[in-house]
Amino acid sequence: MRILIVEDDRTLNAQMVAALKRENYAVDSAFDGEEGHFLGDTEPYDAIILDLGLPEVDGLTVLSRWRSAGIVVPVLILTARDDWSEKVAGFDAGADDYVTKPFQLEEVLARIRALIRRAAGHASAVINCGPVRLDPRGGRVTVGGLPIIVTAQELRILSYLMHNMGKVISRSELNEHIHGQDWDINSIRDSNTIDVLIGRIRKKMPSGLIQTVRGVGYRLSEKIL
Ligand code: CA
Repeated sequence: MRILIVEDDRTLNAQMVAALKRENYAVDSAFDGEEGHFLGDTEPYDAIILDLGLPEVDGLTVLSRWRSAGIVVPVLILTARDDWSEKVAGFDAGADDYVTKPFQLEEVLARIRALIRRAAGHASAVINCGPVRLDPRGGRVTVGGLPIIVTAQELRILSYLMHNMGKVISRSELNEHIHGQDWDINSIRDSNTIDVLIGRIRKKMPSGLIQTVRGVGYRLSEKIL
């Protein structure tokens, strides 16, 4: 899952980046509205955290532009304390949720998890696929009730597939959602290609869970063979 943070307060931006990375998200940050708008417009994010008070272009304008361009990514806005009119304007511009400053990072993390989950059509916090169970809080995976050890990269892939259960996901889509902007395609070693990572995840999962769709990509199936 890949997140964009648009916040001009560099300290706060860095704190959110660190907290989200600890939760195993791929994270990009922008420090003004122009850069933020561009990234949200051109990169495929699973959620965006958007401050409303931004230099260059304000957050409400950025959000309105994304929505009128048909960008439906879940957006969590950061609003000033006690300014209810800002929240109303944010929802009218297409925000999905808000957090009031100052906030606890845990609250932002919980709201982001909920937004991503709801966007994927899951009502409950834990996602099940056959005997496989993923708890996005802390990234715990169990198979038939037994905990499974997965690496950070494997967890990102498994989490993306589980949030998109039943859909065919191409290798390039997986790559775009498990890496941030700082990722360099030339720097990946053979041992980290999507196919190799999928192979490692398969060894830990019931057979038939992750299906290969020839020439297209992968699909996580609830009907295990
Ligand atoms: Ca600000």
